[in-house]
Amino acid sequence: MSFVLCSNCFSDQGLRLDAERIGDADDSKCQNCGQASGRKLTKERVEALAHRFFVWGTLHKCDYGAAPIVQFNEHQKTSISTAARFKKDIELISNTLGVGFFCYGPRLWMVGEVEPLKALQEGHSRAAIIQRIINEYPLVELDESRLFYRIRKAPKVPTEEAEYDTPPTEFLGTGRLDSTDLPVMYGSQDLEVCVHECRVTAEDEIYVASLAPTRTLKLLDLSYVLPEEHVTEFDSLDMAVHMLFLAGKHSYPISREIAKAAHVAGYDGLIYSSYFSLLRTGSMPFEAAYGISYRRFPQMREYEQAKSIPNFALFGRPIAGQKVTVRCINKLVLSHVNYGFHFGPVGV
Ligand SMILES: [Zn+2]
Repeated sequence: MSFVLCSNCFSDQGLRLDAERIGDADDSKCQNCGQASGRKLTKERVEALAHRFFVWGTLHKCDYGAAPIVQFNEHQKTSISTAARFKKDIELISNTLGVGFFCYGPRLWMVGEVEPLKALQEGHSRAAIIQRIINEYPLVELDESRLFYRIRKAPKVPTEEAEYDTPPTEFLGTGRLDSTDLPVMYGSQDLEVCVHECRVTAEDEIYVASLAPTRTLKLLDLSYVLPEEHVTEFDSLDMAVHMLFLAGKHSYPISREIAKAAHVAGYDGLIYSSYFSLLRTGSMPFEAAYGISYRRFPQMREYEQAKSIPNFALFGRPIAGQKVTVRCINKLVLSHVNYGFHFGPVGV
């Protein structure tokens, strides 16, 4: 291993802590600062650190999509202005890697300039795109063997199966896919995602129902990375749907209409990517190489698919309607919460 820097080389505390996590324990003397106690970094690790701190760490979220404010490469000289205490750290990384840091002008698809997504936001063009979504996304069959979970905070009667069905009408119309005219039951095969989605705290009384279909259910799978040939990000239906489900509350009127259309088309429900997918898998959203989304590269499809944690949204009241049965009910005790984090610069 040839180590070029160590965590003690940096003066910014966030950068030091990130370097400690990325670096290797090794008691040789650092060839830059001469200290032995820091975690050692190879050139590749310094590059990973620079990406995590300066690129991911400056990721700016838009209404749809997100783009980093800073990028670096070997063609540019450093041109970002930062707080004085950063200067030496940036110089050190620049010299070690032979790169410059600069303000990144994102490609516009990254910040939501995606035609089908823009069409979904306009009332007059929405229906046509929704029809494409219904036609082009795959059907997934959920059979009796597919157990999934649903969490309730403080149900009145925890042993009562009906407590785990879709909530009563007065509580509908606030979620991503439900509306007063289309009740939706949310569930997931990933219990951690269920816990996140319910925004539970340690004080809550939490119960979890293990559910299973009573017959094969037909779901429209919107978590699927849709293969598209000869289509750029700007015209991509895949990118439109991907961004829609990573967007906040302002996007819900659109996703609710997709749910209604899937219901009319005869589906029992939807599979969609959890908003918490990226937190759960610890991955960076909207990753790109040379301004092209990873989702456009056929060899990256599996990698991109793995970043998505699928959730189920079942239409109507599946327990009352006997489409879904309650296999088990348990108390869920929140014993340990683990936050993953990393750092970014301020004032760039
Ligand atoms: Zn050092």
